[in-house]
Amino acid sequence: MPEARPGADLRPHLGACHCGAVQFQVLGPSEIRVEDCNCSICRKAGYLHWLVAARRFTLLRGAEALVTYTFNTGTARHTFCRHCGVKPFYVPRSNPDGYSVNLRCIAPGTLETVWVDAFDGRDWERHGGTLAARTVD
Ligand SMILES: [Zn+2]
Repeated sequence: MPEARPGADLRPHLGACHCGAVQFQVLGPSEIRVEDCNCSICRKAGYLHWLVAARRFTLLRGAEALVTYTFNTGTARHTFCRHCGVKPFYVPRSNPDGYSVNLRCIAPGTLETVWVDAFDGRDWERHGGTLAARTVD
């Protein structure tokens, strides 16, 4: 399968929570890979992870609307909109210097191809290390 090419064809992708209080932009390619994780929290939320470098991510509005939830090691900072409860992005344990953006919160129209890979987050200690290399830089 094709890999995302760093630096190639970068364009702005807009995202938001459900109520629109939190809005953000990711500079990324039009073809991306995301992870469908089966860990305790992602499985219940249906979260699809698009891992991006911090410098590709811009919070446009809503910093004051975000509340943070942590569990287990506390490394991941799960950020939810306090108005609508949606988690549009967060700081993941695998890539604490970047973001995991929720593909389900990206507005339609700018992503042309999305590959979804299953990620076995239930056995995180064994597989988490593979995610660092997945960040779109
Ligand atoms: Zn909201």
